[in-house]
Amino acid sequence: MFAPPISSPPKLLIVDDREENLLALTAVLKEEPYELYEATSGHQALELAHLHDFAAILLDVQMPELDGFETARFLRKIGRSKTTPIIFLTAIHQTEAKANMGYNVGAIDYLFKPIDTGILKAKLAILAELYKKNYEIQFQNKLLHEQILKETENKFLKDQLKARDEFLAMASHELKTPITPLNLQMQSFLRLLRSNTLRTVDEQILERMLVSAYNQVERLSQTIDKLLDVSRFTSGQLEMNFSEVNLGELVKKVVNSFAIQMKNMGCTCSFEIQDDIVGYWDAFRIEQVTINLISNAMKYGSGQPIEVRVRAQNGEAELIVKDYGIGIAKEDQTRIFNRFERAASPTNYGGLDLGLYISSEIIRYHRGEIRVESDLGRGATFTVTLPRAL
Ligand code: ADP
Repeated sequence: MFAPPISSPPKLLIVDDREENLLALTAVLKEEPYELYEATSGHQALELAHLHDFAAILLDVQMPELDGFETARFLRKIGRSKTTPIIFLTAIHQTEAKANMGYNVGAIDYLFKPIDTGILKAKLAILAELYKKNYEIQFQNKLLHEQILKETENKFLKDQLKARDEFLAMASHELKTPITPLNLQMQSFLRLLRSNTLRTVDEQILERMLVSAYNQVERLSQTIDKLLDVSRFTSGQLEMNFSEVNLGELVKKVVNSFAIQMKNMGCTCSFEIQDDIVGYWDAFRIEQVTINLISNAMKYGSGQPIEVRVRAQNGEAELIVKDYGIGIAKEDQTRIFNRFERAASPTNYGGLDLGLYISSEIIRYHRGEIRVESDLGRGATFTVTLPRAL
């Protein structure tokens, strides 16, 4: 990696309050490969230092108002001249202590007048070379930085594409899962109808077939709703309809709606509900969160009893769903609230891995909080806290 050569010659600033000294120095240096800048006071030098990057500054010590030392101190405060080499020039023979003062404020050298022009040229040549090298290093650093940035961006894009592909595979699987049994049920109905035997089928069996078909359609529409919700969250188009809601009644309704499913899975649910927990929320969305937490407790609860609690806590409403199932390892407890993140094995448990993400977004819209406490193999407790007013 080569840096392009510096397009213009390195800049040099000469600061001296006496015109004749400036003239003499510029005469010495005018044949050298530098772009010369002159200042007749410390203030003028500072102004120029704001505008240019100098390879070196030749600074007279004895100047009225701002002397060389003070000027150097201010130069060190200007970003562009923070590290610019300064060579002090002085006519008076200095004691060592005075010379040290120059080094303290950032002088790299100290030359006494009358100046030996050969030494001055040699020193400046070294400083100009250093300046060029520094420029090259900075240029290469910039290139390197850009390259690293590009590689990071590429990796990010690749990860995004991978996540999208995985998501599409998962979404298609989730959409197809209820379609297969639905298809079979529809075929059975058609067969019965076409063979004129529908009437002979026991009513209870027919009802079971219809309920099962209905459940598959429900599952399909829930999956589609989740996908739509994610795109609404991403595009910021989620609409909330806030109204007065009784959280206890809402949660009881949700738990009851799971009664048949729980019976089939052989699990029970107890609830402890405070009746007067009323707040200003989006009932549909809070119901969605409750459904997600209870269905997760059933899914990952290993058939153990589930406990649901609604109460007031520090003036806020609290919904707690506790199960005694597989639990979640500590290191997974934050990321499961992100999109497409799961802790359980995909072979044993299906799902879009969107439920907790959608729930936490809904709770965020309500300025509430959702958290989990759990140990692997020892169940999980999800707690939702909701402010009661907007
Ligand atoms: P899904 O909608 O697919 O069920 P969620 O976003 O609701 O996904 O959950 C994300 C992950 O969090 C699940 O894949 C599972 O690993 C973990 N999880 C959620 N709830 C529980 C729970 N009650 N017990 C154990 N793990 C859970």
